[in-house]
Amino acid sequence: MDNSDVLIIGAGFAGLTAARELSRHGYKTTILEARDRIAGRTHLEEHLGRNLELGGTWVHWTQPYVWAEMGRYGIHPVSGPDFTQAYWSTGNQQHTGHPDELMDLLDAPNQALLADSRKYFPLPWSPLSNPEITNIDGVTLSEAIDHLDLPADQRQLLRSFWTLNFNGALDQAAYTQALRWCAAASGSWQLMFETCATFKIEGGTRRLAEAILADSNAELLLEHPVASIHRDADGVVVRTISGHRFTARQLILAVPLSTLNDIDIQPELSATKREAATRSHAGRGAKLWVKVKGQQERFVAMGPEDAPLNFVQVEYIDANTTTLVCFGPVAAAVDVTDTAAAQRILDELVPGLEVLEIAGHNWVDDKYARSTWSMHYTGYLTESLAELQRPEGRIRIAGSDIANGWGGFIDGAIESGLDAARTVAEQLENQLRSSAVLTV
Ligand SMILES: Cc1cc2nc3c(=O)[nH]c(=O)nc-3n(C[C@H](O)[C@H](O)[C@H](O)COP(=O)(O)OP(=O)(O)OC[C@H]3O[C@@H](n4cnc5c(N)ncnc54)[C@H](O)[C@@H]3O)c2cc1C
Repeated sequence: MDNSDVLIIGAGFAGLTAARELSRHGYKTTILEARDRIAGRTHLEEHLGRNLELGGTWVHWTQPYVWAEMGRYGIHPVSGPDFTQAYWSTGNQQHTGHPDELMDLLDAPNQALLADSRKYFPLPWSPLSNPEITNIDGVTLSEAIDHLDLPADQRQLLRSFWTLNFNGALDQAAYTQALRWCAAASGSWQLMFETCATFKIEGGTRRLAEAILADSNAELLLEHPVASIHRDADGVVVRTISGHRFTARQLILAVPLSTLNDIDIQPELSATKREAATRSHAGRGAKLWVKVKGQQERFVAMGPEDAPLNFVQVEYIDANTTTLVCFGPVAAAVDVTDTAAAQRILDELVPGLEVLEIAGHNWVDDKYARSTWSMHYTGYLTESLAELQRPEGRIRIAGSDIANGWGGFIDGAIESGLDAARTVAEQLENQLRSSAVLTV
């Protein structure tokens, strides 16, 4: 049996950050990670002749937590290409123009949709600070867009833009989620968009994750999928699928929301927590890397919201090839191994591309993720968030999916990991103080 002060389940950015904080405070900390690697829903791996990010990628200075971590370890941002061409479709018509034209077309509808972002979220990192959000948290993004009564072309473009952001369908997507993103970018949808897909981490997400781990005194056990957690007044007992048993005084559950119910927790977590995990969130789409022949223009392309891949952008231009990154709202609609299918999909969006190779990871079929980035459904914010953040006994949930600010991003994972570490350290100190009083 292995005994720790704190057990952390999951070595994504939330778990790694919490582990660093607690172990550097002198607490014996053990991380149990199901995979054979760290970093969770970020994964830098060699494909198509270069290191590609299969999961989380982009960061921005509007994201205080990840930016501070990069600064702490001397890791710089690198910028993506400056786009010179855009393709988009409205109705049955294909358009080609400068990316500024596409941004101009998206401007008025986004301004209208997001006009109240600062009103509802005056303090974006305190997302429940304005009680008026209860009046709008049941509104779907579809309804909010319909309410604008836009001309058909604008409506179609706006829907596709937000389908991209949600990495999923808009029918249950929360309007408040869109407002939160925009509020975190100080009310500017352009800054919000820049935040999402412009600057990457030099050396990749793996470099930052490894830097956090190297700065920690925690023990990391890979390939230790947790099957059950039992908590009582004395502590927690954790069992892995292979039968290893671990005990601790406190536990941080830093697994994706969509996988929370896969672990048998006794006594059960509250019904609200379990229901939120069952419902999960809208981020269930695809991310695909595609290498095409020749040096292409630095383009972005936006297709209809129901296209298997509704957004494509050039990411790398080499001597004889160009590598594109593509997103679509339904993971099952994109076979990340089927090059011929990728060719057919791209033919509908951009003329004249010849697909050579593709690469990607189906995060929705991945049993330790079951989703991509968290984009919440209606009601989540006002009915589930505070409860998910509330510790139950010695168990505290952490992760980007329940973050206050940039939830759904690497930044949110780090924010949540820091918060979990702080509150767990307080608990441990209180326990130490009460046992000292008892001894006296
Ligand atoms: C395709 C894609 C694109 C994205 N793009 C961006 C982006 O550009 N910018 C950005 O900031 N964010 C992006 N994100 C989101 C970002 O990657 C995540 O929000 C963030 O990495 C989540 O960190 P986390 O620590 O909360 O959870 P995770 O990274 O999911 O970590 C949870 C860990 O728990 C482990 N685990 C699960 N079950 C168990 C178990 N039973 N026992 C033990 N371990 C378990 C998992 O293996 C995993 O390592 C993207 C995500 C995806 C998938």
